[in-house]
Amino acid sequence: NKFAALHLSEEIRRALDVLGYDQPTQVQQEAIPFMRHGRDVIVKSQTGSGKTGAFAIPICEGVKWEKREPQALILTPTRELALQIQEEVFHIGRFKRLKVEAVFGRSSFEIQERNLKQRTHVVVATPGRLLDHLERGTIDLSQIKTVVIDEADEMLAMGFIDQIERVLAEVPTDAVKALFSATMPSRIRKLADYYLTEPQFIQV
Ligand code: AMP
Repeated sequence: NKFAALHLSEEIRRALDVLGYDQPTQVQQEAIPFMRHGRDVIVKSQTGSGKTGAFAIPICEGVKWEKREPQALILTPTRELALQIQEEVFHIGRFKRLKVEAVFGRSSFEIQERNLKQRTHVVVATPGRLLDHLERGTIDLSQIKTVVIDEADEMLAMGFIDQIERVLAEVPTDAVKALFSATMPSRIRKLADYYLTEPQFIQV
């Protein structure tokens, strides 16, 4: 079992067993050690590669249950993806009893606000609604330790790039950053050059 080589905690290993993940996928095997050691990564990979687990596993490992403020932020282009990621993070973090909130547009701001006031360990968000919460002071990003920019090329195509940059300007500069993209247009490279620190490049 190659997950053993990743030295995961008992709670996370048990959760992966329940999910039926016997072996890490290639992207998981390569990205997880870097992210756990606090290294920024740029990962060129497709949907279906297990990329969600590649960031969800190190995030769930790193989160401390005791802290009340969000410790990890995952930016994603659509509501559907936000819900899928929320579910995977929930399953991987279940034995640590991690709380994952999904924040996206065309859905009740007030319910999201109320949930964010409870203990929330991980936030999965589309950029526009996250900025609304930031502007209204209903989310605290001061304790964020990990930021994932998922499907960066899709977010670029959807016109979210300025919003992503506004969010990145609000997270602590020492947060670990992971950028996932199926393609690497020059605008995404520029964003990575500016916001990531000596990123490890991973291509699967
Ligand atoms: P993703 O590329 O993140 O959309 O994942 C594609 C599918 O692979 C999802 O249905 C995951 O539940 C599944 N998956 C992710 N990691 C593993 C693993 N290590 N072993 C088996 N299935 C996995």
